[in-house]
Amino acid sequence: MTPEATKGEFAFIDWLRRRTPAAARVVLGPGDDTAALNWPRDVPCLVTTDMLLDGSCFILAEAGPRRVGRKAMAVNLSDIAAMAGRPVAAVVGVGLPRSGGRVLAEELYLGLREVADAFGTAVVGGDTNSWDGPLVISATVLGEATPPGPVRRSGARPGDWLMATGTFGGSIRGKHLNFTPRVREAIALQAAVRLHAMIDVSDGLAADVWHLCEESGCGAIVRAADVPVDCAARELHDGKTPLEHALGDGEDFELAFAVAPADGRRLIETQPLQSVPVCHVGEFVESGLWLEENGARRSLAPAGYIHALD
Ligand SMILES: [Mg+2]
Repeated sequence: MTPEATKGEFAFIDWLRRRTPAAARVVLGPGDDTAALNWPRDVPCLVTTDMLLDGSCFILAEAGPRRVGRKAMAVNLSDIAAMAGRPVAAVVGVGLPRSGGRVLAEELYLGLREVADAFGTAVVGGDTNSWDGPLVISATVLGEATPPGPVRRSGARPGDWLMATGTFGGSIRGKHLNFTPRVREAIALQAAVRLHAMIDVSDGLAADVWHLCEESGCGAIVRAADVPVDCAARELHDGKTPLEHALGDGEDFELAFAVAPADGRRLIETQPLQSVPVCHVGEFVESGLWLEENGARRSLAPAGYIHALD
């Protein structure tokens, strides 16, 4: 690294340190060789990381750096939510294009702080580097499990209800950048009922329900009439039906989960989440992934493609 680049990095770190508030769990924030956190005894530490690439996961020129920074943090918070965890701290690595890197780095940071602050997540460190390639940003979030422990993908059983928060499809219309990670909702669900399995929907409702099925060693039926289709999915006129968008689009960052039927009924009746409705989308069964529509059951591809009746 050239002396100017080194100086630039130090100046950026100074800029960061001035903007880093004290946080209860943070013993050491940016400025030392590592950060240091207080961690309560006997609480599992959840760790997740996600790397976003300009041109593949987002288009920087279209999204703008603040929204990219926000997304880099929010996708990780969504994974912590999937485990019913509470985010605590984050570190962020950034590969900056050589020109305009400093301004870009500041904008990314302000974007990721926006969503980190909203969820009590301290940004405690990271690394910036420059290269001749496009922007790369990778955030890692540490979180703590909430009682009775992390919710895994593997606990769904035949007979369980398949449930979901929010609505699905058409996220390309904006939700993929400005979604709210369902951290509070997951913690509230974990406090209200026994969650057998859970996942955040990043690949698409059908694909992520199938991930639950694979890990749980069972199958699932999705009822077409009960899939909560986002109004954005109805605004895309590209030959696919709104239902196909809801099942296949991805980046909804809602929660899909499995509970015993009695708990499912209670969630539907009480609707304990203030921000978003909970829907009963289907059931877990012995095997296969199915779509039930107008009394007929068809095979549903994990990508959201609905096979014709045979
Ligand atoms: Mg996930």
